[in-house]
Amino acid sequence: LSSRLTPFVTTIFAEMSALAVRTGAINLGQGFPDTDGPAEVAEAAVRAVREGRGNQYPPGPGIPELRRAVAEHQRRWYGLEWDPESEVLVTAGATEALAAALLALLEPGDEVVALEPYYDSYAAGIAMAGARRVPVTLRPEPAAATGTGGTGTGATGAAGTTPSYRLDLDELRAAVTPATRLILLNSPHNPTGTVLNRTELEAVAALARERDLLVVTDEVYEHLVFDGEHIPIATLPGMRERTVSISSAGKSYSFTGWKVGWVTAPAPLLAAVRTAKQYLTYVSSGPFQYAVAEALALPDSYLAGLRADLLRKRDLLSDGLAEAGFRVFRPSGTYFVTADITPLGEKDGVAFCMSLPERCGVVAVPTQVFYDDPDAGRSIVRFAFCKKDEVLREAGARLRRLG
Ligand code: PMP
Ligand code: GLN
Repeated sequence: LSSRLTPFVTTIFAEMSALAVRTGAINLGQGFPDTDGPAEVAEAAVRAVREGRGNQYPPGPGIPELRRAVAEHQRRWYGLEWDPESEVLVTAGATEALAAALLALLEPGDEVVALEPYYDSYAAGIAMAGARRVPVTLRPEPAAATGTGGTGTGATGAAGTTPSYRLDLDELRAAVTPATRLILLNSPHNPTGTVLNRTELEAVAALARERDLLVVTDEVYEHLVFDGEHIPIATLPGMRERTVSISSAGKSYSFTGWKVGWVTAPAPLLAAVRTAKQYLTYVSSGPFQYAVAEALALPDSYLAGLRADLLRKRDLLSDGLAEAGFRVFRPSGTYFVTADITPLGEKDGVAFCMSLPERCGVVAVPTQVFYDDPDAGRSIVRFAFCKKDEVLREAGARLRRLG
């Protein structure tokens, strides 16, 4: 194995899902819904297969119907205009979009400023491009201890006591050096559930403009926001021309296995990403592309319903964790909640997560593996709440038995 890849032998998600299968535990580790997306979207995929649409190689940049649907989505939700021909690219999930963007835009030795904790494929993608990651750590706000106080109306809950993770703007500025080529953003953020606010995004944008940096932004959780609003950084002044935006049908439409993602970027940047993508997969997901084009045209009530369901699930699991004695960071977005195990008398998230299935039949992910500094995040673990209510209730009951 190449030395570039030795730190990345098995992703934590595969490892924890294998542990769940082996032990029969409730899998709140890897983030995937236990209920598939809309039946009519699944039907659209079946229809495409039957009717012979996409069964052979679709066009390299993606079928025109989907590229137009992505452009229309960006216009309608964010007022961003993209030419479907030259500024939209369909990829094999956001994962390929990220890899293609990093491979296309980085020279060996370049530095990439990335939020930490970071989604694991960022570190691998940066390493495969021969570049170097420079983390800027999202830190929990110094806040009072958490309570069970969620009302479902806000990240701060009823008592205003749930802390959240924030970006330190001085640390961000200090991370940029003459070798920095791009800033890799992720909002809503996995694993913390933070939704970057306008002040944070404006600081990133100001830095990018001032130092002439590119921004690659992973917005796969764009529609899973419970508090505040999702602001695509490409909408900020002077940012459209330097931003590569990435999203995916996996999260918004609950079909993570279909692996349909997309990139929007100004034509020169899009052409660069497309060049790399040609030699990664060339194309993928033929019939699913037709189905996702239909999904993107669903009425807004679908996404509102998804968000309402996930908000309820967020509070169900967060309350369960708080009752079980964790210090809970109730998230503003995504379908993950992080929690500190220190109040349970535990110190090490990896050891905790490895023993959890045996102790109480639940799988979670240690966030330690998403930090360069293993001490940061050592006691934080992540639970996915995109699961049936009864599963979340049962997980809460099992975790309460820990104490
Ligand atoms: N980025 C983030 C932050 C994610 O959580 C995920 C999760 N799956 C991905 C990218 C990958 O998305 P996809 O499945 O579309 O490749
Ligand atoms: N994004 C999902 C998570 O964070 C997992 C995706 C994967 O397994 N690569 O859990």
